[in-house]
Amino acid sequence: MKLFVLNSGSSSLKYTLYDIRDGICEIVSGMAERIGEKEGAVTLFHEGKEVVLTHIADHHTALQLVLGQLRGHGYLKSFSDLAGCAHRVVHGGAKFTAPTLIDREVLETIKSLIPLAPLHNPANLEGIKTLIKLSPGTPQIALFDTAFHQSMPEVAYRYALPEAMSLELDIRRYGFHGLSHHYLRDEAAKLLGKETTQSNLITLHLGNGASVTAIKAGKSVDTSMGFTPLEGLVMGTRPGDVDAGILLYLLEEKSLDAAVLDRLLNHESGLKGLCHTNDMREILARKAQGDAKAALAFEIFCYRIRKYIGAYMAILGSVDAVVFAGGIGEHSAEVRERVCAEMSHLGLVLDEVKNRAFTKGAQMVHSPQSKVKIAVVQTDEALQMARESVRLLKEFKKIV
Ligand code: ADP
Repeated sequence: MKLFVLNSGSSSLKYTLYDIRDGICEIVSGMAERIGEKEGAVTLFHEGKEVVLTHIADHHTALQLVLGQLRGHGYLKSFSDLAGCAHRVVHGGAKFTAPTLIDREVLETIKSLIPLAPLHNPANLEGIKTLIKLSPGTPQIALFDTAFHQSMPEVAYRYALPEAMSLELDIRRYGFHGLSHHYLRDEAAKLLGKETTQSNLITLHLGNGASVTAIKAGKSVDTSMGFTPLEGLVMGTRPGDVDAGILLYLLEEKSLDAAVLDRLLNHESGLKGLCHTNDMREILARKAQGDAKAALAFEIFCYRIRKYIGAYMAILGSVDAVVFAGGIGEHSAEVRERVCAEMSHLGLVLDEVKNRAFTKGAQMVHSPQSKVKIAVVQTDEALQMARESVRLLKEFKKIV
C-alpha cells in the first residue's frame, strides 16, 4: 500500500510517495513549479533527478502530469495502490484540531476558512478536489498547519481586543508551522530519551517563514505566529512583531491602502526590507565582507529569537531542550551560535565543535555544562503528514 502526500501551494506543489506496508518508506518525491506560467517544471527526485519542462496551466494539470510521471516510471501502478492521499491545509481555524478524513462537510469548512488564509486555503482545496476527481475511491486526509497549536490556552491565544469583536470574527491567535513543530517535538523527545508527554521544549522553525513554539508536557502552549503568519519572529520578507500603530500611521498619514500594506508586510519587510535580500546565505557572505546592513539584519534576526526564547523560558518554567530547524536553523551554525551566545545565564551553552559539525538528521549540539540541551533537527513536514495519516487510516481501519 502507498500514500501520496501533497503540499499544494499557490504556484507550486510538492509531493512525496511513500510505501506504508511496513513502516513509512519514501519511494519518490518531487515538485511542480511555476504553475500558470509559460515554462512550468515537473520534477521527480529519485536516483538522480528528472525534470519535465512544460506549460502547466493549473493545479489540475500539474497533478495530472505528476501522477502521469509516477505511473510512467512504474512507482504507482494504479490508483488502487493508494491507501490514501494526505493534503496539507494551512488554516484549520478553531474547528480542526487533528488530521481529518475529508468529506463534503470538511471541504465546505475548509472553504469557509478562506478569508483567514486567502493565499493558501484555495490552493490547498484545488489539490484536494483534483485528487478526489482523479482517484475517487481513495480516502483523502487533511492535515492542518494550525492543528498542533489548538492546545494553546485562552490566555495565550486571546488578543486584548474587544471581546465581542474577537468572538464574532474569530480573531485570535492560531499559530502555523504546526506540522513542523509537531515533528520537532517527536524527534527531540527521541533524542532526549523521554516520552513526548514529559518533554518541555522550545522549537524554532527558521525558514523563509519563521516561528517558535513553547511546548509544555508535549503540547503547544504558545507560538509566535498569530491570527496570520505575520506575527512573531523576523522572517525572510515579513517583519514579525510590529507596533500596530505603524499601520494606523501609514493608513492615515500616508494614505496607503490595504493592498500596499499587504505587499509591504508580506513581501517587502523582514530580512529583505533590512538589507535587500531574504537569502540568509547571501546575508552571511555579505556580513563576512563587512557589509553593515547585512550585519544589522543578522543581528536583528537573532536578537528577536533570543527575546522569544527568554519569554518562553519564563512561561515554561523548566525547559529540556531548544530545537533549531528550518533552512536557516538547520544549515546556519553561525545563526545558532549567535542566538545561543550570552544565554549561559539561562542555562544554554553551545558546543562550538558539535554545532559546526552538524550536517543532517537530528543531533544534540550543547556542551556538557549546558543545563538546557540544544538540538538541531532536519524537519520533515511530509513525513509528519505521512505518520499522522497512517495513524488515522489505521484508526478508521482504512488499511489493515
Ligand atoms: P521555506 O520556508 O521557504 O521552506 P527554507 O526552510 O528552505 O524555506 O529556508 C530558506 C532559508 O534558509 C533561506 O533564508 C536560505 O538562505 C536559508 N539557508 C539555506 N541553506 C543555508 C545555509 N547553508 N546557510 C544559511 N542559510 C541557509
